[in-house]
Amino acid sequence: MIWNPEMETMPRERLRALQLERLQQTARRVCERVSFYRNTFDKAGVNPADIRSLEDIRKLPFTRKADFRDTYPTGLFAVALDQVVRIHASSGTTGKPIIAGYTRADVNMWAETCARCLASAGAVPGDVFQNAYGYGLFTGGLGFHYGGELMGLTVIPVSGGNTERQILLIRDLKPKILTCTPSYALTIAETIRTMGIDPAGLGLKAAVVGAEPWTEEMRKEIEAKLRLKAVNIYGLTEVIGPGVSCECVEVRHGAHIYEDHFYPEVIDPNTGEVLPPGARGELVFTSLTKEALPVIRYRTGDIASLDASPCACGRTSIRMSRIVGRTDDMLIIRGVNVFPSQIETALMRIPELTPHYQLVITREKTLDELEVRAEVSDEFFRLIGGEILVDEAHQADHAVHELRRRVGERLRGTLNLNTTVRLLPPGGAPRSEGGKLKRVVDKRKL
Ligand code: AMP
Ligand code: ZN
Repeated sequence: MIWNPEMETMPRERLRALQLERLQQTARRVCERVSFYRNTFDKAGVNPADIRSLEDIRKLPFTRKADFRDTYPTGLFAVALDQVVRIHASSGTTGKPIIAGYTRADVNMWAETCARCLASAGAVPGDVFQNAYGYGLFTGGLGFHYGGELMGLTVIPVSGGNTERQILLIRDLKPKILTCTPSYALTIAETIRTMGIDPAGLGLKAAVVGAEPWTEEMRKEIEAKLRLKAVNIYGLTEVIGPGVSCECVEVRHGAHIYEDHFYPEVIDPNTGEVLPPGARGELVFTSLTKEALPVIRYRTGDIASLDASPCACGRTSIRMSRIVGRTDDMLIIRGVNVFPSQIETALMRIPELTPHYQLVITREKTLDELEVRAEVSDEFFRLIGGEILVDEAHQADHAVHELRRRVGERLRGTLNLNTTVRLLPPGGAPRSEGGKLKRVVDKRKL
């Protein structure tokens, strides 16, 4: 079902008129209320009255992650703190967290976009909904919680972690909808298997997964192991949290951006030039209705492309591709640009491997080394007589050596780079404990 047919299927001409009106309001609002924007607009020599068409957004300055850090904690807020009914913070990578504030209207708008996501995954009012995104400062848990309640779902606020209990609840309360990170969906699937439960009997219909990068190959794995349809959801704390965009279950090819609230652009990260639909670059969002924390041309660091072609589901919004990497998590190994998602895709085409892996980067003197630690399947592990993988020395044993060679070759074909491949026994690679999973260990920076 489409949660808000009026907004989600609006003819594009009307949508653009609505976006322009809201963009003008937002630009006026930030200049009146946020000294940071007054200054950056001044420096760029623009004022809100200069925005006469949507294209005029290009006159406005970008906002960056560093601007949040420099105005920490609430310098970008456009309302006094007593108007803020909720605070969240991003999981952050380094330094200070990013603090987001929401007015009551913001919370309502956010619940609405999360309800759109749930509906686009196939949820209907009355469904039981297990929300395994983390509750707390992270936006995932509470964001979806409010979306689910608004929609009239029966929400189980289980949060991340405690996987056996998750599965007990799935078995006994029969949720139709599950939300969690993709890496945690795999943890749940694996635990279901070790508990000897038949996934077909669980009756799950769809999983709304996101908050971290994943691939088509991982989707196949999650769908097969949990017997459901998995849709990709995207969002970030600076813009709102989850619910910026979500795939429709019918097509599952690109996430519909809720453009009546979030205006997307894709830019060349080096020049700042706006790129046409189809071109890959850095995603930039401008909020169109937010009160507490409006953002102007926020550079997400996420690399994706936009797809303006009509979608069979009937929604008229532009779609965004998967995030193929970040401007800042792109690994540069001996001068070669490497995205972890490329490695994941390559590994998952090899049947002896599981979707679990870890990347370790070291530097001997001046030369970078990328070690790809790939976990083998139970079947392969049994075939080679198990234990030997646990012991470093046996990485040279025949069957092991042969698989390492094949993996190395596949990676070289994809990355144009020589890597060191090490095989891990089943369970040897890190697992998500309920939240985002860190798969890259870059020892060069230490
Ligand atoms: P946070 O604000 O801490 O939730 O982190 C937001 C970041 O998570 C985004 O900027 C993306 O880099 C990443 N992210 C969120 N959703 C997805 C997704 N579906 N696919 C890939 N990365 C995602
Ligand atoms: Zn669609």
